[in-house]
Amino acid sequence: KFISLEGGEGAGKSSAIKAIEAWLEQHNIPYLLTREPGGTPMAEEIRELVLSAREETVAANTELLLVFASRVQHLSEKILPAIAQGKWVISDRFVDSSYVYQGIARGIDETVIDGLTNTFLQGQLPDKTLLLDVPVDIGMSRVQTRGEANRLDGESLAFHEKVRAGFLARADQEPSRFAVIDASQSIDSVEQQIIAQLNQLLLG
Ligand code: C5P
Repeated sequence: KFISLEGGEGAGKSSAIKAIEAWLEQHNIPYLLTREPGGTPMAEEIRELVLSAREETVAANTELLLVFASRVQHLSEKILPAIAQGKWVISDRFVDSSYVYQGIARGIDETVIDGLTNTFLQGQLPDKTLLLDVPVDIGMSRVQTRGEANRLDGESLAFHEKVRAGFLARADQEPSRFAVIDASQSIDSVEQQIIAQLNQLLLG
């Protein structure tokens, strides 16, 4: 199984990953936990490039090509081999982040991203995408509470609203692949929603 996790700032992806990992261990399921942008040494270097480039004006197309290059490397070097070995692959972000960050938020046409997806990912979409959805103000205040306000620098509230709406729109387009998790709830409740999805995947 190939599962991706998506969501904006302060949605709680890190806690969700811990819960997923515990569940996989408990069920003795071999797995690969990985993340995007990144996941391989070269792809991690591209991640650094993309995230540090925020301080200069990086063209949206440059960002798209960089994250896609990192994704293609990540897919061929790590994700596909792990799937071939029968492992469950959990990726902290995947192609939906490009549709939302480079596409909806930064304005690149969806058809351009479709083209890259079809050409380079060969239809390799996750079996399930868990979308941690949280209202922007709650997400922002969580990030501030944990003293990481610098993560928010440079992006306006409107940007984060676009990201949230963008993910929800993608979930609407592909309701069978997406599971929208109400991430405004307590950690326990979010964990239960996620585990319900994992149990379904295990049976299906
Ligand atoms: O997953 P995490 O929140 O650590 O990702 C770091 C940042 O990378 C995100 O806040 C997002 O702004 C950015 N990102 C991006 N395009 C992607 C994936 C992530 O701009 N395709």
